[in-house]
Amino acid sequence: MTEGAAPGAARYIGRFAPSPTGPLHAGSLVAALASWLDARAHGGRWLVRIEDVDTPRCMPGTDRFILQQLATCGLVPDAPPEWQSARSAHYQRALDQLVAQGHAYPCACSRKDIEDAQAALGHARERHAALPYPGTCRHGLQGRTGRSWRFNATDFKQKQALAPDRSAQAATNSIANTLQHWSDRRLGPQQQDVARTVGDFVLHRADGLWAYQLAVVVDDADQGISDVVRGEDLADNTPRQIRLQQALGVPTPRYLHTPLVCGDNGEKLSKQNGARALDLADPLQALSQAARALGLPALEHPHNNSLGDALAQWVVAWRRHYNGSP
Ligand code: GLU
Repeated sequence: MTEGAAPGAARYIGRFAPSPTGPLHAGSLVAALASWLDARAHGGRWLVRIEDVDTPRCMPGTDRFILQQLATCGLVPDAPPEWQSARSAHYQRALDQLVAQGHAYPCACSRKDIEDAQAALGHARERHAALPYPGTCRHGLQGRTGRSWRFNATDFKQKQALAPDRSAQAATNSIANTLQHWSDRRLGPQQQDVARTVGDFVLHRADGLWAYQLAVVVDDADQGISDVVRGEDLADNTPRQIRLQQALGVPTPRYLHTPLVCGDNGEKLSKQNGARALDLADPLQALSQAARALGLPALEHPHNNSLGDALAQWVVAWRRHYNGSP
């Protein structure tokens, strides 16, 4: 806990949750700095969680390297980091609960089955656009063997209640019920029709790995995260996560999605499109760039600051800019 904690400090717990698929780059440093500043601006705690459930995409040693990069930037978590790979039992318990309550079901479909079913419905896949799962296994496996587990995003209970009356109005009601509203501290009011946009999404994958959506919700709940601050590219995951929180009966954190950093080609910087690792020979320079991306004003004396001074100035600026004071 920081000194001079603001009122509400006990309740604020933030986190940075990198996937160790590559070292931090200019874009991920923005999310790290933003989540750290928000925690400090609220006098709260800041945690780091290594999201290494998607093991084939993780690079050995990158977790430690990221922690070192953060420390070089003066961003040190208030508790030892957690690794998702050590938390399978927690995800299994959550899945068991969802199954027992009728919110999750086994799915036998391969990628090819899903594409064929979508094509049969006349849905053409646009480049990069994932089509919603057509719901083939929602009402049973029809003798096939389950490979993955999916969340019933079409609201199982509502559908069941409507089942005897398959009128058009009943169908409309059940779809309207899948509209998830939420409010982002930077982007304002948001909504997504979860069933239509993503459909019944995967919780446990056919390759035996836990899906990001389930792991992140279970961990945020177990760690008591009150505020999620992360990149805007993750904003459209939020409605799925809220649905899961509601189904599991855990609190929904507040969300703030930060501006994305684009490369020279105008595309979002990401490990996938080859963003270079940060040059941390001068961490203040890298952090200044991240602070600029967050819309924070330049330091008063740009060449005459220790890392600690600079971070302290940005906490004050953050509080003004993002109304961080509780
Ligand atoms: N592990 C995710 C990533 O590195 C971030 C997840 C999150 O902040 O919710 O993109």
